Amino acid sequence: LVSRENHPERSTVHVGGVPIGPDTVTLIAGPCAVETHQQTLDAARMAQAAGAVLLRGGAYKPRTSPYAFQGLGEAGLRILADVREETGLPIVTEVVNAQDVELVASYADMLQVGTRNMQNFALLQAVGAAGRPVMLKRGMTATIEEWLMAAEYIAQRGNLDIVLCERGVRTFETATRNTLDVSAVPVAQRLSHLPVIVDPSHSGGRRELVLPLTRAAIAVGADGVIIDVHPQPEQALCDGPQALVDTDLGELAQVMNDFPALL
Ligand code: PEP
Repeated sequence: LVSRENHPERSTVHVGGVPIGPDTVTLIAGPCAVETHQQTLDAARMAQAAGAVLLRGGAYKPRTSPYAFQGLGEAGLRILADVREETGLPIVTEVVNAQDVELVASYADMLQVGTRNMQNFALLQAVGAAGRPVMLKRGMTATIEEWLMAAEYIAQRGNLDIVLCERGVRTFETATRNTLDVSAVPVAQRLSHLPVIVDPSHSGGRRELVLPLTRAAIAVGADGVIIDVHPQPEQALCDGPQALVDTDLGELAQVMNDFPALL
């Protein structure tokens, strides 16, 4: 269903009216985690200033440590809905287990399945039946074939509104949080008709790598990028070191504006 063999035209997925697909490079930005209403609104305004047309933000956070901030849950979803109202930005937010899909889908414009859940088949089937577009992140140790098969689980439930997101894979390298596999973008786009975007924030894991990796993503033909921003990253409850700050936004806007010249 997601293969390009039977569907040679590349697809465009619409999220709250915003297209993600071959004719544009869509900027999705926002905080890694929803912490407070003010923080989310400030981050959404930062995202808009850089040209973002969709707001990201996690209310359910899949953290490595059970002692780390796990997200605000439904209270976070309510904040996202309020900020959507205030800014007009449709929202992309992660769902981490199948039981929560209906609840998260009642607030979200797009459901995100994170790297750790790429092969959580019950979750994939549940998001496939939820009636919302889905962003499927690549598992950090998954092959492209496994990633596409995970998308197939979603598609099988009747949902072809799927966007693939390359977010870096595990390698021996420790200088970056993950290794951005730029080759996955054109490979996945050749094998599948689905749009492919890149997460330079979770790949690099460091603020100073986000803009160079964004340029790389656009240069290899990504259909969009999803980027963490935070008004006060030193106080962030999740992934502060990779969040862009106010002073980075002008350059991000420039990179996004310049994208046709990079192609
Ligand atoms: C995220 O985008 O908030 C996230 C946790 O990403 P990943 O699943 O790629 O680690």
